[in-house]
Amino acid sequence: MSYVSEVLSRVRMRNPAEPEFIQAVEEVLQTLEPVLEKFPEYEEARLLERLVEPERQILFRVAWEDDQGEVHVNRGFRVQFSSAIGPYKGGLRFHRSVNLGIVKFLAFEQIFKNSLTGLPIGGAKGGSDFDPRGKSDRDVMRFCQSFMTELYRHIGPVMDVPAGDIGVGSREIGYLFGQYKRIRSVHEGALTGKGIHYGGSLVRKEATGYGLVYFMSEALNSRGKSFKDATVTVSGSGNVAIYATEKAQELGAKVIAMSDSDGFIYDESGIELETVKRIKEIERGRIKEYVKYHPSSCYTEGSRGIWTLRADIALPCATENELDRESAETLVSNGCYAVGEGANMPCTPEAIQVFRDNGVLVGPAKAANAGGVACSALEMSQNSIRTFWSFEDVDAKLRSIMASIYQNASKAAREYGYGDNLVAGANIAGFLKVARAMMAQGIV
Ligand code: NDP
Repeated sequence: MSYVSEVLSRVRMRNPAEPEFIQAVEEVLQTLEPVLEKFPEYEEARLLERLVEPERQILFRVAWEDDQGEVHVNRGFRVQFSSAIGPYKGGLRFHRSVNLGIVKFLAFEQIFKNSLTGLPIGGAKGGSDFDPRGKSDRDVMRFCQSFMTELYRHIGPVMDVPAGDIGVGSREIGYLFGQYKRIRSVHEGALTGKGIHYGGSLVRKEATGYGLVYFMSEALNSRGKSFKDATVTVSGSGNVAIYATEKAQELGAKVIAMSDSDGFIYDESGIELETVKRIKEIERGRIKEYVKYHPSSCYTEGSRGIWTLRADIALPCATENELDRESAETLVSNGCYAVGEGANMPCTPEAIQVFRDNGVLVGPAKAANAGGVACSALEMSQNSIRTFWSFEDVDAKLRSIMASIYQNASKAAREYGYGDNLVAGANIAGFLKVARAMMAQGIV
């Protein structure tokens, strides 16, 4: 049995209730065989066994009172997976589906993503099974305050710097930051994604979506293609989806569909993004309301239906495992030639296989959506040197980081015999830096 298979069967045995975590570990480790052959010292140092075990997992009770005086109890999580190359960094997710396995999968992915950015940040993730949907601002504030009343002891600018993710946007980061500051009496960069007027960075809001499109542009260019005049479908209508749509449209693409967890809208003449922003960012409404403003568009119940539409490029930007084998087959038969993962692990392994078998370009999440965390690291830099960079400066840095992530993933894939497989290339390029740091730091 190979070293990788041995470690994988141990991971399956030790984490039976965490299918998403097992899926993420399998996806990475299975591509590392040629690296482990080249560096047998990694096996001797039991590097993989250490890599798949979080350095620290924090679970806590979050009790809070709603507007009606009713008491609720949620679970809080922070998984500090790896600090090999820098302080822990990774978002917080507030969604009813959050459990330890989900947080572990996201934190594990974050290790390689953060390494790929070329910046000194380790991997972590956190969140709660709290569902902000339909809650008042005051409910959300009281929840965030209670959540931070425990989390503050575990974070800080050189220790662990959380950011947003699903259900955690600028409103939540504001409340979390306010409570951190109140407890610690320090105004420091312990969170990223902050408002511009109190330590945030320009471009952070747009960074994941813009970065996805920058990454895909590089990859498409290498195949003589681009976003110009391409038809694009974007799943989700949250932070990543909105800004991926904005940049794709700016580059001349026609985005014809977006979704939320209830269903999707189709607008043949191209999505009017200002309407989506108003519905989602200001009114916090549902995507189906788009049809009210654009009667020639249509709304269909069920979010997966978005993959039945004919599109050149698909950008899944909603959630994990949202695009399965059947959807992948439909996309391929409708002529789709590129898929850029804006969400984390949105394509199932079977879907990725369908794309590979049919020569579809796949931009894997840990490379393609690394723009958000890269910009967060730029926010950390600005906070620590107490400065504020212009939009153009940060955007140029983001663009250059995304281009170099593409180059590094592509080079690693070729070097280790994977041809143009960016999924394998991203895993290898991300892994190598972490592995070297772990070897240098001894058995810890
Ligand atoms: P948001 O909360 O802003 O938006 C999430 C969107 O996805 C919403 O439209 C939501 O719809 C939809 N969605 C959630 N669950 C499902 C589901 N089961 N089926 C269909 N649609 C669903 O989150 P983000 O945009 O921040 O995050 C989206 C993805 O991108 C996540 O995988 C996240 O981990 C990843 N990511 C985010 C980064 C960031 O900077 N924000 C950075 C890197 C990755 P509804 O309103 O109905 O729930």
